[in-house]
Amino acid sequence: MKYTIYERENDMEDKDYIIRATAAGGQIRAFAATTRNLVEQARVYHQTSPVASAALGRLLTAGAMMGSMMKGEKDVLTLQLKGDGPIGSVTVTADSASNVKGCVGNPLVMLSPNSEGKLDVGGAVGKGILRVIRDIGMKEPYIGEVKLISGEIAEDLTYYYAVSEQVPSSVALGVLMNKDNTVRRAGGFIIQLMPFAEEAVIAQLEKKLTEVTRITTLLDEGMTPEEILLYIFDGMNPEILEKTDTAYKCDCSRDRVERAVMSIGKKEIADMIDEGKPIEVNCQFCDKKYVFEVKDLHELIKKAR
Ligand code: ZN
Repeated sequence: MKYTIYERENDMEDKDYIIRATAAGGQIRAFAATTRNLVEQARVYHQTSPVASAALGRLLTAGAMMGSMMKGEKDVLTLQLKGDGPIGSVTVTADSASNVKGCVGNPLVMLSPNSEGKLDVGGAVGKGILRVIRDIGMKEPYIGEVKLISGEIAEDLTYYYAVSEQVPSSVALGVLMNKDNTVRRAGGFIIQLMPFAEEAVIAQLEKKLTEVTRITTLLDEGMTPEEILLYIFDGMNPEILEKTDTAYKCDCSRDRVERAVMSIGKKEIADMIDEGKPIEVNCQFCDKKYVFEVKDLHELIKKAR
């Protein structure tokens, strides 16, 4: 089932974007994003349940912001949640232009709300690990891995930054659903202290962060990412530096899928040919279907190893 995603409410035509900012003369750096459209796009592609939309949407939002921190045009960031909860693993990939895509093991998972009456993302993810993989064109990708603290994702990323990169950070991620389970608001922020941050600045920021409510509440009150950062850094000399678009974008192609089919081996392809029926391969990120007729399989088997 496919349908256009912008037809519900007028304000939903607003584009998703990320803001980069600094405060306190560069002692603090920050990113804030509004990602409602890309999370809704993911929901439509994967037909996710509310708790799965929240989990995938939070990770996509983090991926979009972390992708925008990368420098190289071809750099690729992958975030993986591997927990023992009913949602299975959740994977997000982002490039440095903040194009993101993601997939989730069990998109249909249903859970009762948690003790706060919120979608139980932590319960869906369970215990396990968070892996951050940065492919920046070196021989080996840079891989950081931490144990999941709560499975709520923002806390886990805060812990990842502290332990794996030694960068004190505050991460907020949120997805708010409409009554019909479409995505109403989504967004987040990542605020980081530079090594030379002064105690007074750290204390002022920490105090302010205890006063900040949920990111989706702020977005739902109509605040933009710029306004959210200006509010958090009130009195700390905030500077908005850059605005970048972000979107859900899958870069799959028939060529890429052909290579995947070839990689399963000659014998397996021969078995498919013997079946005498076309095969259908679905992209795990965007649900696009690629059909290979028996004659196509004959071509692929010639090129397969
Ligand atoms: Zn795709």
